[in-house]
Amino acid sequence: MEELSRLEESRRTADILQAKFDLSEIKYKPKMKCKGCMEWNCQVPEHQPSLCSKCGQIVGSHRDIPYIEYETVICRLNAADPVWWWEPLVKDEHAHPKISYQSFGETGTSAGLWIKLHVGPLVKLGVGEALVPSTNPTEPSDDLLEELVRDAIVYTASLMGVGTISQLEAI
Ligand SMILES: [Zn+2]
Ligand SMILES: [Zn+2]
Repeated sequence: MEELSRLEESRRTADILQAKFDLSEIKYKPKMKCKGCMEWNCQVPEHQPSLCSKCGQIVGSHRDIPYIEYETVICRLNAADPVWWWEPLVKDEHAHPKISYQSFGETGTSAGLWIKLHVGPLVKLGVGEALVPSTNPTEPSDDLLEELVRDAIVYTASLMGVGTISQLEAI
């Protein structure tokens, strides 16, 4: 009996997380299609940068990729479980979230943070990533940690079905 109610609770939580978004909640970001446009020196007349009404940016030839903003994701998590929470998967010796770094030589370093997201009875692992300019990071800044946490929450929520492409394209 208890097992059944836990399953029902999981389904109820998943249904709230996976519900469709209103059109007004969906934002768009441009994804460039052409190398010349990416480098801002495109010679194709039809590719000249102009203000796009969908993503609101002045860009050349591109596709508009739908996404859900962090604040909207948080609202959805709150709706599913007002006491949702996250924890770092790994902690350092000071019990702080442990950030892992991967260097790409000249181009910089990528920082990553793995988290466990708890929403009602659901638990998922996910990672947040950010580029850091320094190739030899020492103490992570508060800004970096915040960026990683935000990215990790949005990504892990998407694994629970918040803002998946099918949800966005079905509209
Ligand atoms: Zn172009
Ligand atoms: Zn656009």
